[in-house]
Amino acid sequence: MKKNIFFLILLILLLLEVSSCNSDEKRIHPKFAITRNDLEEMTSNLPDRIKASILSRPQVFLEYIMEMLKEPQDIFQLIDKKHSLPSNYVPGDLVSLQKYDLTTSKRNLYLRRILMPDLLAMAEAARIAGTEIILSSTYRSFEYQKRLFDYYVKTEGIKKAERESARPGHSQHQLGTAIDFGSIEDSFINTRQGRWLAKNAWKFGFSLSYPRGEENITGYKYEPWHYRYLGRAACYLIRNFFGNSQQVFLEFYGKNEKIFKEKLLNP
Ligand SMILES: [Zn+2]
Repeated sequence: MKKNIFFLILLILLLLEVSSCNSDEKRIHPKFAITRNDLEEMTSNLPDRIKASILSRPQVFLEYIMEMLKEPQDIFQLIDKKHSLPSNYVPGDLVSLQKYDLTTSKRNLYLRRILMPDLLAMAEAARIAGTEIILSSTYRSFEYQKRLFDYYVKTEGIKKAERESARPGHSQHQLGTAIDFGSIEDSFINTRQGRWLAKNAWKFGFSLSYPRGEENITGYKYEPWHYRYLGRAACYLIRNFFGNSQQVFLEFYGKNEKIFKEKLLNP
């Protein structure tokens, strides 16, 4: 009798184990056909800290991925030391900033129309907080970037030029979604504008591209003035899951974008 009870308990434990395995195979978000195992596989190459934070809150993570999938996907294109744009790439929706209520340090600045609502909202929020946002450099053509990079090489040498400027085709500025603010100097972070942006830009969809201490990942030295527009959902993910690393996030998203799209239910 005692033996039978023992085996009964063992059977129940086994059944519980099997059913918990099965629940692992269930979807972890109502709108995605993604299981925990799928997500573990997709995040397997990420640093442990990032992976753990995604796996501990998979629904929040996928909810924001779902928001990103509604955006035009070209705003997430990885442009870095290894990935480039064709020399003839010019964004189709560039607008002149001249007639907008924005402060610029130069004339003839252009950006993609897609980011204007968030940029204007950010400038207004800064103004209300008593800070003026100043735009110094925005869209740059391939040819302009070539002249700029050549100038850096000539005046500073190739090694310094590589750390501080992008080769033509490799600049986020050619995307029409990158902005340099203020003085374009390290001391920018100690200005009112620099501090305000560091704290608030992500809320409006602007992400710092080259953070302090990430030169080994991005190839560029710290640039407190250079932001790239990625939209609010991507910025939430970068801040809350990716330790503020735009580079690691865009590499991950680029690798998995197709899977996320395919696994999205009834888009
Ligand atoms: Zn820049």
